[in-house]
Amino acid sequence: MYLWAIVQYIFIIMMYIGSHQRDGMKFRPYNQAQTRFVNLNYREILGEDSDAVVISDIIDLMDLSHIESQFVEVGNIAFDPKEMMKILVYGYFKGYFGGRPLHKNYKNDLGLRYLSNDDFPDFRTINNFRIKFKDEIADVFAQVVMLCKSLGMIGFKNLSIDGQKIKANANVFQNKNLKGIKREKEKIEKLLRKLLDNEIEFKSEDDKQKKKKKLEKRKKKLEDATKLLIEAGAENDDGLRYNLSDPEAKIMTDKRGVKNPDYNAQNAVDDKFEILTAVNVIDNPSDSGQLDPMKEESENNTGSTHENTLADSGYPDKDTFERMEKDTTTEYYVPDKTMHSSRNDPYSKWNFQYHKDLDIYFCPQGVKLSYVRTCKDKDGFEYRLYQAEDCSGCPVSDKCRRKSKNGNKKINNRTISIYPQDEAVKRMRKKLDSEDGKKIYQRRMSTVEPLHGDMQKNRGFTQFVLRGLEKVNVEYNLLAIAHNVRKIILHGAKALKEYLVKAQITA
Ligand code: SF4
Repeated sequence: MYLWAIVQYIFIIMMYIGSHQRDGMKFRPYNQAQTRFVNLNYREILGEDSDAVVISDIIDLMDLSHIESQFVEVGNIAFDPKEMMKILVYGYFKGYFGGRPLHKNYKNDLGLRYLSNDDFPDFRTINNFRIKFKDEIADVFAQVVMLCKSLGMIGFKNLSIDGQKIKANANVFQNKNLKGIKREKEKIEKLLRKLLDNEIEFKSEDDKQKKKKKLEKRKKKLEDATKLLIEAGAENDDGLRYNLSDPEAKIMTDKRGVKNPDYNAQNAVDDKFEILTAVNVIDNPSDSGQLDPMKEESENNTGSTHENTLADSGYPDKDTFERMEKDTTTEYYVPDKTMHSSRNDPYSKWNFQYHKDLDIYFCPQGVKLSYVRTCKDKDGFEYRLYQAEDCSGCPVSDKCRRKSKNGNKKINNRTISIYPQDEAVKRMRKKLDSEDGKKIYQRRMSTVEPLHGDMQKNRGFTQFVLRGLEKVNVEYNLLAIAHNVRKIILHGAKALKEYLVKAQITA
């Protein structure tokens, strides 16, 4: 007993001596210089449910043989494509969008240390991998979509298709028309002449040569841009512009009305857990014409068709409605451009009464509009033109008749253009106005809006890092993989564990 009490006493004294004592305060021992010899297992430390471990398990399930086969045995020993994919997906998951931010964060991020096994690639190696394997990365996205299907995370009820504008890595002031390019080129030529005539002072010859090289490079860029703009017909169109930092980005107007060099990222989203089933970035601000390709891509990636396909009024062309009616594989819920604005407008052509036997329309004032002739619009679509008999003295003509293009003068008698496709548009309107139609179409908003918000606001992906259409598509595929992985972590973790066990048994 005595011996035990003495041991305890000595231990307390040692603790006391080991502790800090400052100004009468006592602290636990704190020595950062102390060396430790520990056996580290990152997976154990992180835990089976951690983001890095789940990403690692998911990428391990992917078939990367199409990437692996491109590495030859001679030359430097390459990083394992699985490691590279895991690092990239983790980067887009965490908001490290590229080699440099990944490299910057790797030492302090246990997930990256685990995924790289503490053998972290150089930032250039990561960036080169991302660009070199752009098609293969798109294939990995398709494989992740299939995995989501296998985990029961795709409902195949409602597929929403929508686009979001994302800033290009391009300066808005670098967007120039032919005149702007010519002005800058003249300025550069003047500077170059001054430089060669030694009218500009430099600290050294080296500095002078560097400046000369920079100016010549810019001049070449401007000359290339001039050629492209002339080919596109810019000599007769001041509106045609070329962005010198990312020529493929286009000036687009976002939801707040701000104009920027942007890309238009198209998404097909299943509404069960907001799994992305297809993505594609385009360089066109308009969504028109993207409905069929996105639906088809979704079917290719999932191997199945959704019961309903939903999209906003920016998607259909004039002939889309008839095509949608003929497609019996899915039910479409897509409004036309004027559906919402014309619903309460009595002077919209949609609200004029048609008398089938006489082939005439009646306006709200009861005036007859008769067939005049068949015309073609600028897109080549035929339409039947009807004109009112007499609009003079109409008390509501200000609301009904549109103004002529070149002034305030009203066009004499009101005309309306009736397309053969209008009947299909009317049937679509009826479907969307039904109780079921309203409920189904509402799913679009609650599916795509959170997706856009999550990507841009929560994940911080407000701008592409890379330049050019092909490269921004690689980035968006990585972002889409990260999005689906996040959904698996949130909603499919248990199903994934069971899937992994089965995969191990069958391996
Ligand atoms: S402007 Fe002509 S078409 Fe329009 S409401 Fe008046 S009479 Fe009818």
